[in-house]
Amino acid sequence: MPEPVFTLSGASRAALCPGSMALPTTPSASQASDVGSAGHEHTQIRLERGLDAADAAFPEIAEAWELSSRERAVLRARLYSWEPPVGPGPLCEVPLALLEDGTVRRVKGGRGSYAAEDGILFAGTLDVAWAEPEPLQHSVEPGREDAPPPRVPVDAVAYVADWKFGSEEHVPPARRNLQVRLGAMLFARWTSARRVVPMIVYPGPDAGEVDLETDGAGRAVALTEPDLAALESYGRALVARGLEQRRRLAEGQPLDLVTGAHCLYCPARSACPAHIAEVRALATGALDVTPGRPLTREEATRLAGLLAPADAVLRRAREALKAYADEHGPIELPDGRVWGPVDVARDELDAGLTLPALTSALAALVRPDRAAELALGAMSVSKEAIKDALRVALAEAGVKRQLGKRFGAVLDALRAGGGLSRKAGVEYRVHRLGERAAPADDASEAP
Ligand code: SF4
Repeated sequence: MPEPVFTLSGASRAALCPGSMALPTTPSASQASDVGSAGHEHTQIRLERGLDAADAAFPEIAEAWELSSRERAVLRARLYSWEPPVGPGPLCEVPLALLEDGTVRRVKGGRGSYAAEDGILFAGTLDVAWAEPEPLQHSVEPGREDAPPPRVPVDAVAYVADWKFGSEEHVPPARRNLQVRLGAMLFARWTSARRVVPMIVYPGPDAGEVDLETDGAGRAVALTEPDLAALESYGRALVARGLEQRRRLAEGQPLDLVTGAHCLYCPARSACPAHIAEVRALATGALDVTPGRPLTREEATRLAGLLAPADAVLRRAREALKAYADEHGPIELPDGRVWGPVDVARDELDAGLTLPALTSALAALVRPDRAAELALGAMSVSKEAIKDALRVALAEAGVKRQLGKRFGAVLDALRAGGGLSRKAGVEYRVHRLGERAAPADDASEAP
């Protein structure tokens, strides 16, 4: 029996790199995905059984995903400052698949792995779905594996949301995000909903950051039958490309592998000849990055897409080396030195004591007000560090959903005292140019 040709979470990547649908995959294990998985579990319990039940389950969830104490504190505070923006009677974590005959069925599986089934084309799990103004109508207890699809009241609009606990840097916006748009299409086909709004939510203070397509008046734009039909045929075309790639692999023919920033989370990365060749070219100097030699446009595009995946390879290499050295001892290098653990001691400065000591040393050289100014300039502080401190304090005080308010109060106090100014600068990283320019992942554009 066949397995899904692609999953919703890999849909954008499949569109950019058809060969990724054919290569064998290995599950990715990263800290970011562990925190996200814990956040998803907690949110499901919260929406189904209430905040107290989710609260009680938190230690077990954090344990299961092996979160560090800092990750626990930060995630907990983030979850409790958040009010998930969902309507009444939501349905959580629904694994759905499109079958060859056009039906959509609830399937077994989740987290990128689904049971094989005759006629299955693609599958994915919806984080949450609901309807407004009237809620979804269930004929049996919702959430049961054998439960029939809920009914969306005729005049209601269905919403399908995806929680994103990681950075939005590599997430296409909702209006052209294949994962959430195909997910919305599956939900509409499953329930016969006439209008469905796909959205992405980044959990955070209050409702978090909500990304959905809006019209000129700021109203949510719902997908209707023409959009759903276009999405279904796009999904089917993607399946056909994936099957063609699998045939090529079986016959030993080359695959259509397209490297880029989308390789970063690709589960086929460790077996991908194109990705390995790119990283090797960088490591061996075959991709010439000699300082002073201007890059061609093609080389620049290649390099910009390669930076994040190459960083990830280096991080993994470092982890693998550390594990080896821990087990077998230091690794001997050809020049007689070794690579392995070295005892180090780093000085840690107490900010409260550093400030007067430095001020006094500086005052021996310059005016006292100038000394105080220079000393304060040496103390670094960031918004994220302030938020982390507030998160931990709120969690320890058992205060919920107040991060945004308390953080705002700190900024207001700083602003009033002239302690908040804006400095312009330039960063080089993946970002969106807005409506006028095409982002790097445009090939994944959803219909
Ligand atoms: S690692 Fe990159 S090039 Fe290779 S299959 Fe994945 S997305 Fe395609």
